[in-house]
Amino acid sequence: MGDSVDFDVVVVGSCNLDLVSTTSHLPSPGETLRAIDYEEHAGGKGLNQAVACARMGARTAFIGCVGNDSAGTMLRDLLNAEGINTSQLVTVDGPTGRAFITVDASGENTIVIVAGANAHVSETLITLPSSKVLLAQLEIPLEIVTQVFSQAHNAITVLNPAPAAALSPELLSLCDIAVPNETESAALGGTKFLLGAGVKTVITTLGERGAEISDATSMTSIAPYKVDAIDTVGAGDAFVGALCAGIARGETIEHASRIASLAGALATTVRGAVPSLPTRAAVMSLYAD
Ligand code: ADP
Repeated sequence: MGDSVDFDVVVVGSCNLDLVSTTSHLPSPGETLRAIDYEEHAGGKGLNQAVACARMGARTAFIGCVGNDSAGTMLRDLLNAEGINTSQLVTVDGPTGRAFITVDASGENTIVIVAGANAHVSETLITLPSSKVLLAQLEIPLEIVTQVFSQAHNAITVLNPAPAAALSPELLSLCDIAVPNETESAALGGTKFLLGAGVKTVITTLGERGAEISDATSMTSIAPYKVDAIDTVGAGDAFVGALCAGIARGETIEHASRIASLAGALATTVRGAVPSLPTRAAVMSLYAD
């Protein structure tokens, strides 16, 4: 495999425009409510994790779909500005994916996702470039994730099974590494089940308690890095991106996970998803301590 691959990390996934309203309380059925604040952000687990990989120094390509609207142009421009290859970000007829997020004064939220163009990521649109790591999440059609993992060749396949969904035995057997958070792990049947189904390594992220790496023969705890967390949005994306960038560099899973734990912690010190994803320089300055 060597360095003759096209990219360090190829991400096949979703991208959205997030429309975030802040309100005094969450609206009841039939209620019309005035927002106190409103912001629009780039989002979607695929886009977030591609940005996380690129900021951690990985040569990254993003494969997915946007719609032929201004949101699609905005997301493409953002990915390009992060140095991410978008030659296989396909523009389809119809709207770009959107997430309508309402957050109340206590931080409680409701989220309505419109898949939009993300529902149109399909095998006919994808010519998979070669890479050291192939990363996917579950916000695009599941059969596409299975399809690309089965074409991964020498790439290490990493699945962030979010949002949790029932996974086929075929897809599980194609995963080298699965990275669920605690809730997703429980929904998927737990570490033992995942290992039994053929996932080679399961890395469960445990929020402020760090992470845990399990394979057929061992279990290793990854300590958290102590921070004053102000917003945990983006922590999982930062962790997954840093993990994939580290593995593409040739680091062991354990070493890459230790650095990913620092990246996840740093992401909790900045609000939002994309704005909170740390650079390699910021993460490595903590590692030196
Ligand atoms: P998700 O955002 O997907 O729910 P987690 O909350 O498990 O994922 O966070 C991912 C990683 O980020 C954790 O494994 C941990 O390394 C780091 N992290 C998250 N929250 C904190 C925190 N409060 N303090 C320190 N590290 C954190």
